[in-house]
Formats: sequence, structure tokens, C-alpha cells
Amino acid sequence: MMFFIVKNNKVLILGGFMIRINENFLNLKDNYLFSTINQKIEQYKKEYPDKKIIRLGIGDVTKPLPFGITKAMEQACMEMNQVETFKGYGPEQGYEFLREKIQQEDYEKKGIQIDKDEIFISDGAKCDTANITDLFANANTVAITDPVYPVYLDSNIIAGRTKIIYLPCTKDNNFVPELPKEKCDIIYLCYPNNPTGTVLTKEQLKIWVNYAKENKAILLFDSAYERYITQDNIPHSIYEIEGAKEIAIEFRSFSKTAGFTGIRCAYAVIPKGLVGYTKQGKEVSINSLWKRRSSCKFNGVSYITQRGAEAIYTEEGQKGIEENIRYYQENAKLLKEGLQEMGYEIYGGVNSPYIWLKIPKSQTSWQFFDELLMKANVVGTPGSGFGPSGEGYFRLTAFGKREEILEAMEKMKRMFE
Ligand code: PLP
Repeated sequence: MMFFIVKNNKVLILGGFMIRINENFLNLKDNYLFSTINQKIEQYKKEYPDKKIIRLGIGDVTKPLPFGITKAMEQACMEMNQVETFKGYGPEQGYEFLREKIQQEDYEKKGIQIDKDEIFISDGAKCDTANITDLFANANTVAITDPVYPVYLDSNIIAGRTKIIYLPCTKDNNFVPELPKEKCDIIYLCYPNNPTGTVLTKEQLKIWVNYAKENKAILLFDSAYERYITQDNIPHSIYEIEGAKEIAIEFRSFSKTAGFTGIRCAYAVIPKGLVGYTKQGKEVSINSLWKRRSSCKFNGVSYITQRGAEAIYTEEGQKGIEENIRYYQENAKLLKEGLQEMGYEIYGGVNSPYIWLKIPKSQTSWQFFDELLMKANVVGTPGSGFGPSGEGYFRLTAFGKREEILEAMEKMKRMFE
């Protein structure tokens, strides 16, 4: 049977006739960015098969996992082989042994009081920052910095939210987003920022915390790159800002800090005091909503992975990941200084593994991409792929191998000769 209504002389099919899709997907901009980059590389390789291409585009780590972490995972794997220690489904929120470590090492030792029931282990900050949209009504207005990690925008479009406001971050405002003129309910902040590599001070973040409190809004704070901060006055956690526990969720990931991009483990902190409101203005705990969502849609992260993540917090684990982070930080410094010597205007790279380069000529981000590929065989990411305010900029990542970073610098220098 088919159901339809007639509206304004048009027949609208309601259902019972064919499978209907979530048409919000059709409102997404096609994700041409990385596929276009790959197509261009493939084309270039066909024309110049002997040329070696250096890829500094995708933000994926290249250093292997520290030994202590893989050893812990190996042991956990062997536990699965014994009747006494075998594990089936684990707790959706994550094993207590890992939540306790996070609570103590990432928060308590840094003077931040977080309860372990406020920590939720997941298989990635990408999923977390997207899935959190399940908790909020479509009537909310969402503010997103521009340029931006694309997941925030796309996940809200898929959910059907239409009131989305861009907060431009360019060299003209020192990459500091201004408070929106309209009232916003959900605000995404990512610091250290992907793609610009810039950070906000405590005072600058306090403005956003105050805004959220005054407007009964929520801050979704992505600090996936906090371990890359080198300067003392830059906060690693939103909870370093007074009052943030009342209005902010924090997302963290082991991907870029511990080399877990392939292993998959992250966590979200949702304070128990954080509330949203029903249409009638009744307060509802966001922590309880997320717990409810997790028990419905998620079966937790594997035991082996969580034992690996726990091992990050051992002395050996910390030493291993710090060595890797220092390596990427040194790469960022080499890129930044090398490019500055060549006369480029560079942002980021000090508290972040990302270099945000201002394209000097009146070239678009894609034109610069093509020139760099043709003349230096170096691949980066055009800034326009991260939002309209990214036009005229270009992102390079410091996650590459040292010898390739140095080679890329040499080739770019020769581009000028
Ligand atoms: N958040 C930001 C800002 C990122 O840049 C990335 C990855 O590039 C993620 C989250 C994804 O992290 P995960 O690997 O934990 O999904």
C-alpha cells in the first residue's frame, strides 16, 4: 500500500512504496578533498613515473607504537586464550582500569577533579564528536569555527540541523573566533586547532565559557592535539577554565598522542553537572543521556585495545609516546623554520603538528597544491577543503618521516631558484 498527501497541488509520497533515504545526506558537500588529491597524484605519477612524491597531506602518524603498549596488548590477547581470563562484552562506558588511569593521570595530577563516571571510552574522537549530535534537538543553532575539522559540520547536516553558523578564523583576527552575533546553543571548539595549528589562551577560552553559561549553551571542546602544546600559558583542557564543568564536554584521542590511529581508542568527558533542557525548560543530565545512548548503540571498545591504552600511562609508555611526540614536534619546527626562511608566512607548528601556510601569491589553495606537486613533488592539503575561510591557505602535517620532511624543504627551496 502507498501513502501520499497532496500539498500545493503536488503529490508527496509518504511511504509504503519504496525505501526512503535520509535526504539530509544529499545536503552534504561531496567530499572531493582527499579523493581529488589522490586523483591528482595518480595522474602525476602516470605522467612522471620516476618522480618520488612526498606526502605531507593526511594527518596520520608514521612512528610505530612504543614497545610497552604492544606488549600489554599481546598479554591481553593471551588472556583471551584462557577460560579464567577470557573476556566477552565489556562495559559500554569502558573498563574501570582505564577510566581510573585517565582520571588520575590526565586530570587529577593536573589539578582537575573529574569523576571516573564522567569518562566514556570510545573507538575514536571522530565518532564521539559526530555521535554527540544524537543528544541535541534540531532546533539548536550550531556554531563552528571556519576552517574546521569537517566532521563537526557534516554530522550536524546529517542530523538535519540547518541553523549552522561559521565563525571565521583567519590571520585578520589572529585565528581567534569572535563571539557570534546570533544566539548559539552548540559551539564546537578545537584547540590546538586542526587545520590551522593555532591555540587559544585561558583568557580567550574564558570568554567562550562565559558565553555558554550566559546563553545556556554547550561547548564541545576537542583537545585531540593537547599533547603537542609546548607553551606554558596554553590550557590543555577546557576544565582548566573556571566554570567549564557546567557547560563543556571534552573530547580526547589516543590517535595522535600515542599512535593509536590504527588501534582506535579515545574518550569523552561529560561532567555530571552538565544539563540540557526539554522544550518545557526542564533540566536533563547530558551524562545520563550519553550513558543511555551508549547502552543502546555501542558495545564498548575491545579489552585488548583498552589494555594497550592503559599501558600508555606506565613509565615506559609515557617515555615511548613522548619520544614520538618530540619527533613530530621537531618535524613541525623544521617545517616552520624552513618555510619561514623561504619567505612564507606560517601559522601553527608551535603547539601543534600542523603548519598553516598563507599562500603568498594571488593563487587559490588548489592552484598552490598543483604548483607544489609539479615543481617540488610535495603533497599538502588545500585550505579551502576545510571551509570557506581556508581559501588562500595550505596545510602541511609534521607526521611524516624526518628524511622526507628535510627532502620536502630542499625541493621547495629549489622551487624558488
Ligand atoms: N579531532 C580532530 C580535531 C582531529 O583532527 C582528528 C583526526 O584527524 C580526530 C578528532 C579523530 O580522532 P580519532 O582518530 O580518535 O577518531
